[in-house]
Order: sequence, then structure tokens, then C-alpha cells
Amino acid sequence: MICECGHSGHIKLKENDTPYSVGFWGEYSVENLTGVAYVTESSRSWTELIKKINPGCPVCGRKLTEKNIQPDK
Ligand SMILES: [Zn+2]
Repeated sequence: MICECGHSGHIKLKENDTPYSVGFWGEYSVENLTGVAYVTESSRSWTELIKKINPGCPVCGRKLTEKNIQPDK
């Protein structure tokens, strides 16, 4: 995610890769951003994730939204 002030950070997804485990499991955490970690057992839309994680810029304090998502190159 890239803030309007130029600061960039990431929402990272750690997925369950344990063999023979049941169902989807993922833990989202923030890197270089403010916000909370969020664990989900099913796939979520970005809209929902952003509402839960509440990502913000640690430099200027802006709240980040879907518009700040920068796809991985
Ligand atoms: Zn910023």
C-alpha cells in the first residue's frame, strides 16, 4: 500500500500450509503501517479486510483505503 505522502507499507498474508489441515486459514498482518493483525478462516474481500485491519500511515497518520493498494509487481 502506498500513502499519498509517499510512505509505503504492506499487508502481509501468512497462509496455513499445514498438510491435512481443514479449510482455509490465513493471518493478515501489517508491515510499516499501523493497524491490527487479522486472522480469517475464509477468503475475504479487500473491503472487508481493510475494515478489520484498519491500516494507517505511521508517518502522516492518514487512514489507508483500497485506493492505496499497490499490486505486487
Ligand atoms: Zn502518509
